[in-house]
This record gives sequence, C-alpha cells and structure tokens, in this order.
Amino acid sequence: MADDGAGSAPAGTDRIVAPVSGATDAGERSLRPERLADFVGQRPVRANLEVFIAAAARRGEALDHVLFAGPPGLGKTTLAHIVSRELGVGFRATSGPVIGRPGDLAAILTNLQPRDVLFIDEIHRLPAVVEEILYPAMEDFKLDLIIGEGPAARSIRIDIAPFTLVGATTRAGLLSNPLRERFGIPLRLEFYDSSELQTIVQRGAARLGFEITAEGAGEIAGRSRGTPRIAIRLMRRVRDFAAVQGVAAVDAAAADAALKRLNVDEKGLDSMDGQYLRCIAESFQGGPVGVETLAAALSEARDTLEDVIEPYLMQRGFVLRTPRGRVLGAAAYQHLGLPAPAASGQMALPWTDADDGDDNGDADER
Ligand code: ADP
Repeated sequence: MADDGAGSAPAGTDRIVAPVSGATDAGERSLRPERLADFVGQRPVRANLEVFIAAAARRGEALDHVLFAGPPGLGKTTLAHIVSRELGVGFRATSGPVIGRPGDLAAILTNLQPRDVLFIDEIHRLPAVVEEILYPAMEDFKLDLIIGEGPAARSIRIDIAPFTLVGATTRAGLLSNPLRERFGIPLRLEFYDSSELQTIVQRGAARLGFEITAEGAGEIAGRSRGTPRIAIRLMRRVRDFAAVQGVAAVDAAAADAALKRLNVDEKGLDSMDGQYLRCIAESFQGGPVGVETLAAALSEARDTLEDVIEPYLMQRGFVLRTPRGRVLGAAAYQHLGLPAPAASGQMALPWTDADDGDDNGDADER
C-alpha cells in the first residue's frame, strides 16, 4: 500500500501546489530564464556560478562538476541549462532512475563533446554500479569498460572528453560520500521570498502577454510556497479565470478570487496540508507523533509526507521535526484557528514569527 506503483505518479503530485512537475506544466519551459542575468533570486548561487563560469571560460577548460541541491521546482534544471548556455557548450540531460545499467551511462559519456554539460537529475537515484563508473569519469575523464565475459573478461580504460557533470538532487543526504566529494561546486538552492516570486510572475505574465498588476502578482507570489514552479502554475490558472471572466488586468481581488476557487489559501496551503495539520492537532493533540504513525493515519505513503507535504510546512514553522516526532508549531494553531495547548513541549522558535509579520490577513481562517 505504502509503495507507489511502478510508473505511476507519486501521490500528491497532481495538487495545484505540488512542487514537482505535473502534466499541466509543459508550458513552464517556455518561461525559463535563459541567461544567468535573467535568473531571479538565489543570489549566492548565481554569484558563485558567475565566478566559476568566467574562470573556466578564460582557461578554456571544462567547468568543475556542479551539484545543485534543494527542493523541487526551485530552478535546478533551469540553472543547468543556463550553465551550458553561458559556457557556450552542448547540453545533454538524463536522470538517475533512467540509467539502469553502466552501459547506458558509458554510451552517454563516450558521446560527449569536449566541455559539454551532462545534466543528471535525481542523481541520488543512480544505481550503485552505475555510480562507480562515474568516479573515474568525473575525476580523470576515463572510462573503465569490461570486454568479454567470464574468465576471459578484461577491463580496458578509455579516455573521454573533459566534461562538466551537473547533478541535481532533492535529497542531498542520500548521495553517497564518494559521489558528493567529486563535485567541486556544491550549491544549495533555497526557497524564494515573495518579492522574488512576484518578479517571476510579472515577467511570466509579460511573456505570456497578459496584464497583471503588481498587487495581483504579489497575491500569487504569497501563495506559491517559495517555489517558482508553483508561482508559474498558479499564474497560468489565474490567467484562465481572468480570460473566462473577461478581466482585462488581474489585480489583487481577481487573483484572490481565482485562487480561492482553486482552494489555495492565503498562505499557499491546500486541503492536503489542512488535513495533515488537523490530523496532528486533533488526533495526536499537537504531537509529537512519528512520521510512520502519521502516514498510516492519513493513508499516505511516508515518502509523500516527507517529500511533498512537509518541506514547506516545516520551512514556515507550521510543523517542527523533533527527535520524538512531528510537533505542530504555533503558526499552525494560528492558521487553523485553534487554541495552542497551554502546557506543552512547544518550542517558541523565533523564526515561527516570520509568518506573522508579512500580513494580518487571517480574516477567513475560522
Ligand atoms: P527543478 O529542476 O529544481 O525542479 P526547474 O528548473 O524545472 O526546477 O524550475 C521549474 C520552473 O520554474 C522552470 O521551468 C522555470 O520556468 C521556473 N523557474 C525556476 N527558477 C526560476 C527563476 N529563478 N526565475 C524564473 N523562473 C524560474
């Protein structure tokens, strides 16, 4: 029950606020920024890349291997494309689960041109036997091939073109140490703030040719869970509502009305988040509750909770991870309109306040 069937989309990925790419997101690609200068936010990542790309270009060498780590939808794939474009080199993309055998990767590696970018998404899911042939390839641009079978088998070492591996992972912790250590440029992507997402929405609307006011874009940005992919998806859905209703320019009221229809509340939470928070509040008295118990109570896979639901709730202080299990944060009680338990092991973490400063629009929370 807890496992996703092979090939089927993981539970929760069809939510309008899912950070992972879904069936309706094909159009987001046309909105991808193409140059580093057009990439909004992630300032430290951009600054690092600028320096290393310029240095590699000056030396005429392949850029050192880059690892992008961070939650889905923050721009890892977009940045990988940008790296190859800035370097003026070819781009080849694959992903960890797609490469089943060492031969699959060997075929890709031997076809690379000098300095090309090879992008491996979900690199933490590379099979161990495939990972092993990556080590000498990354380090010395060599490939160890086994020729023949049985006792007659022998290994030969061939040269491959110097290339840049760009890896992306949502789970940096699952990467093996030897693989992680071979990335000279490890970079971590963070959630975006509202003003960055507002810029992304305004630029996206301009490219799609529809009008949105700064407040309208801000309304979408505030509900996008710090994630450009969600901002773009919500923007496109809001545009649909506006088109059908004959709204010329989307302002805050029009955006708010459309987002309410989509069941996305003013903090960007949907009904799945609501169920999760209420379950801890009501069935487990605010926690602590172990993730397995919670998964069973919600009839969800543990992975779905950890990958799809919890990252944003934790980042915003709605739920806290403690050694004894999940505990609701003060922000969650406030959001649910429930009184926080008087005596509790609740930690008054300073950053849970961050939620409260940005608005006082809790009017319809009850
Ligand atoms: P990831 O690989 O981390 O899951 P993507 O690179 O596929 O994320 O980004 C998802 C979408 O969000 C992209 O297609 C792009 O349109 C948009 N996007 C991501 N980051 C930015 C950004 N910084 N500025 C503008 N758009 C962005």
